[in-house]
Amino acid sequence: MANDLHMTPDEFRAHGHDLVEWIASYVESVGTLPVQSPVQPGEVRAQIPSAPPEDGEPFSALRRDLDEVVLPGITHWGHPGWFAYFPTGASFPSILAEMASAALGAQGMLWSTSPAVTEVETAVMDWLVDLLGLPTTWRMDTGPGGGVLQMSASDSTHTALVVAREQAIADGADPSDLVAYTSAQAHSSVEKGANVAGYRHVRLVDVDDQFGMDPTALSRAVAKDVANGLVPAFLCSAVGTTGTTAVDNIRANAAIATEHGMWHHVDAAYAGSAMVCPEVRHHQDGLELVDSYTFNPHKWLLTNFDCSAFWVADREPLLSAMSILPPYLRNTATDSGEVVDYRDWHVPLGRRFRSLKLWWVLRSYGRSGLQSFIREHLAWAQELDGRLRRHPQWEVIAPTAFALVSFRHVDGDAATDGLVDALNEDGRFLVLGSVIDGRRFVRVSIGSQATRQEHLDELWARIDAYLPSS
Ligand code: PLP
Repeated sequence: MANDLHMTPDEFRAHGHDLVEWIASYVESVGTLPVQSPVQPGEVRAQIPSAPPEDGEPFSALRRDLDEVVLPGITHWGHPGWFAYFPTGASFPSILAEMASAALGAQGMLWSTSPAVTEVETAVMDWLVDLLGLPTTWRMDTGPGGGVLQMSASDSTHTALVVAREQAIADGADPSDLVAYTSAQAHSSVEKGANVAGYRHVRLVDVDDQFGMDPTALSRAVAKDVANGLVPAFLCSAVGTTGTTAVDNIRANAAIATEHGMWHHVDAAYAGSAMVCPEVRHHQDGLELVDSYTFNPHKWLLTNFDCSAFWVADREPLLSAMSILPPYLRNTATDSGEVVDYRDWHVPLGRRFRSLKLWWVLRSYGRSGLQSFIREHLAWAQELDGRLRRHPQWEVIAPTAFALVSFRHVDGDAATDGLVDALNEDGRFLVLGSVIDGRRFVRVSIGSQATRQEHLDELWARIDAYLPSS
């Protein structure tokens, strides 16, 4: 093998320092770029040769294409004018941890394949229980629950659906009779996960006027299914729906889930991060009654994608649904029963060192830093909500429970869509238009690390000055 096949440590040092400089400059100046990538379909692909190079290229060529090919095709989620979808977390401590984790290249499928990957994760998940005010029985060190990191909330919810299915089957149900319930405003990942997990019946339950699941409608739907010989097996409540951050009544839903022996999962993918602030924890009232819970630190907790946290109130049903021990994975530590093997906690076998970035974020910011970060966004959202409510032209269409403000123009859909176009036209901002109850509305989702008061003021100035074209 040629000696010069690999980048040498000295070359890596030089390129690495240059790339760190690039990262810092990118983060510093991202606000000068258009939020949304302007490229047309196929434009990036057209700049990439149809075959890989025969001989290796110098790193300078790769680095040049980062600026020339990649950057124009990036939509900047960390832009100060990012008000679309939900935020995606990013921070320097998290980026540094990603670098360290890539260097270690550890694969933590078993405790024995890198004990630190497992034990840091367990410790960090227990910290989060404390930081977010979750039930203390979800801590691994007290139990009987425990937490694990997954790639996405979709994975976490899918896992919960599989455990619920296995439990129902173990109780004697016919798999084709199982029913999963969630609200009509739930994220599509619930329905998709149910399909993938083999549920033949998925009910999207009606919501109330605040867009939270209506427990009476849930009761009715369950009763009807039971009368028809079906088996209610899974219920997903939301704390912060994707559309408007609506909150389902966990406690009322839990009573129905318990009565019918359903697995009750809570999806707080976005809003879970806000629970570092005790003043919003009333939205998660009743969590001690549920079976599993997910939220995404990669959305609003300064942690780079991917990083989704998942807890079960009791480890046993999860492990019995997910554990398979082929001979090649047997080892003394596993046989001793003294260690956690996270491969038994989700669908994939292999797993990377995600907890390092979460650990570095939690340590770098501390409880108080995380609270300040979230509280600033909550306050800006309340300020925007108030400005809109005081203005005759705008109607806030849902409670601003967290940092998403949902509103429409009183003149209707065309005027509402006109604002979205006007705000997005020069690349300083990106907001989304959506639909609820058959009517268009504007979503302004605050959460980028780079956003400051001045960006909110500029956004408001534009909203205030907007006049729909007749
Ligand atoms: N659940 C809710 C409430 C969401 O808002 C989202 C994404 O925005 C998801 C689930 C899916 O998250 P992920 O992309 O991590 O699968």
